Amino acid sequence: MNDKKLRLLLKAASAFLVISLVFCIYAVCRNNSQKKYMEEQRLANETKLAELQMPTLEPEQENENDETADTEEAIVLEGDSVSVPSYNAAGTAKKVIVLDAGHGKSSSAMSADEKKSEGYVYNESKGSWGEWRHYKNGTFGEDCGGSGCTLTAPPNGSCWYPMGNGDRDTEPSVNLNNALAAQKYLEQMGYEVRMTRTSNEENPSMNMRVSYCFPNNDTTQTPDAAAYICIHSNAGGGSGTSYISLGGAYEQCFIPSDYIEKSNTLGQLINTKVAAASGLSDNSPIGSEEYLILFNKCPVPIAYMEIGFFDNSRDLGVLKSSSDAIGRAIAEGVDEYLKNN
Ligand SMILES: [Zn+2]
Ligand SMILES: [Zn+2]
Repeated sequence: MNDKKLRLLLKAASAFLVISLVFCIYAVCRNNSQKKYMEEQRLANETKLAELQMPTLEPEQENENDETADTEEAIVLEGDSVSVPSYNAAGTAKKVIVLDAGHGKSSSAMSADEKKSEGYVYNESKGSWGEWRHYKNGTFGEDCGGSGCTLTAPPNGSCWYPMGNGDRDTEPSVNLNNALAAQKYLEQMGYEVRMTRTSNEENPSMNMRVSYCFPNNDTTQTPDAAAYICIHSNAGGGSGTSYISLGGAYEQCFIPSDYIEKSNTLGQLINTKVAAASGLSDNSPIGSEEYLILFNKCPVPIAYMEIGFFDNSRDLGVLKSSSDAIGRAIAEGVDEYLKNN
């Protein structure tokens, strides 16, 4: 074989090799893309099959039916009066806090049956629905009926409290928002919280509200609440946050000997926190209202908060935008009090 022939052969061989290589690469690529296509087809088929087997899911609809919402609240209300002992992770019983959002549904919007079921009575001689301001001295739950009590009453007032005096607009919802936020934070801190109302369509009597201090609302038992926090907002010209201080004589059963001192400490601690968190000015306590029904009926230390002035537009703006911060401040105040008392 001469050189010329050899070179020709080598050229032919290398040309063959190059062609074979290109062909191989083409074959591999084609195989891969076919595999990919088949896999996609298989997935699409599976998805179709799964969709056919699944029930059709309608997008969840906002429940705008008030009646349904009310029914749910009624169920919750019945449930939250049942106080099965609850325990912390540490195994110790949780401390119980009663949160009372002041006021509620206006008396003029309530039927006689509603008033009755909320614990109010009709007083023939006074010609009004309402409740007695006190219990008979040394008892719990025995209405004074105008005698055998401390007789403390506001100027020109008496032992009888007509429920119409507690009618408010704007305030019930402001109070409820603050109370619901406080509930959230207290529960996060490990407390058991009992709400005296959870909607603005309720307006329990004071008798009914304080019954939450007892296991299962049973006032024949010993109260098991550690504190009662009554949440209100002020009106009548002014600005800032405060609490109403206790003073004088309280004669209802179960209160500790230092009921006044403990209650005022609790009010002060909460108010300081609320002022700092909301920016509302930290006002000195409100005196001269020692006659308030709740002070005369609550069996455990009580803080009666007057947070902001709902009839002052600047304060109302704070109340509307800061209920979460206010609720957290209430919870922190309660927590600080209970760690030392
Ligand atoms: Zn009385
Ligand atoms: Zn109020």
